[in-house]
Amino acid sequence: MTNQPDSYDGDVTLTGHEDAPVALRDPEDVFLRTDSVDGDLEVRNAEYVFSHQPTGDASPGDPETVVSGDLGDGYAEPGGVTGDAVVADAEDVFVAAGTASGDLAVVAPENVYSDDVDAPRDPDDYDVSLTGWKQSGTASDPDTGVRVSGAHHDVTVEKARTDLDVYVVGHDHDVEITGRGASVSVHLLGYDNTVTLGPYLSGEVVADTGFDNEVVEEPYPVEELIETSKDEAFDRAGFGRRKVTYQVPAEGDDWCPNCGEPADAIVARHQMEAFFVFGYPLKTYDQSTNPAKECEHCSRSAFDASLSERERKDVLK
Ligand SMILES: [Zn+2]
Repeated sequence: MTNQPDSYDGDVTLTGHEDAPVALRDPEDVFLRTDSVDGDLEVRNAEYVFSHQPTGDASPGDPETVVSGDLGDGYAEPGGVTGDAVVADAEDVFVAAGTASGDLAVVAPENVYSDDVDAPRDPDDYDVSLTGWKQSGTASDPDTGVRVSGAHHDVTVEKARTDLDVYVVGHDHDVEITGRGASVSVHLLGYDNTVTLGPYLSGEVVADTGFDNEVVEEPYPVEELIETSKDEAFDRAGFGRRKVTYQVPAEGDDWCPNCGEPADAIVARHQMEAFFVFGYPLKTYDQSTNPAKECEHCSRSAFDASLSERERKDVLK
């Protein structure tokens, strides 16, 4: 046992091999994951603290291990500290939900952003899991979601079909998810993070703790609700007295007048009876004056999320 400082150079990751309590002195940024401290945690004199664990009083024991030196960033993995921990004089400290099994105290910070948030999943239970600096990850047909900790990670997930959790800890991360008919629960802790959700997904921001984070939900493309455009309908009409039906994008509505939902894409369904000459309506007999409107939620042209791709192909046959 020693309480003499161990001198380190560069980034350090606590993995449970150090005798606890552990003190981390004068690091740059520190990223603590869910279940990483099996005891109390005290954060002293940090510039910024971002926490999803509620703050209160903690009484960590005297350190058995002191990690100091010319430190870069500090990381603690699940099981990283087998007792109490102290982080002193860091720049930014990110405390994920459920980091410490004991209490968390934040002493003399310059800035604190804190919310009481439950960890969405066990730490190992993600399709993509990144820790550190500037890594990238991808997944297709995911089951659970994405977790990133650190800075400047870049994650792309495709073909999401089941509900997912996205847990973003740190700064300057970029997570993009596309798929169909799934809901994505987003947890944000830190700053300058962006989560982008494709047009056929819905999103819920469970927590946004920090600043300058953004969740971008791409709009449903209105063209997908148009079965027959006006030009197509007129072309098909050919020559003679015909009844045609077509859809056009409805401008200016944020809410669907048909189903009452807030909508990205609303179309108006027109009917017209006219005498056509080479696709041109020479004489109009009847025209809908108050066309029915529908949106991505209530249109039968909208993708039915309950169907698999194969089922959808069968339906469209
Ligand atoms: Zn609607």
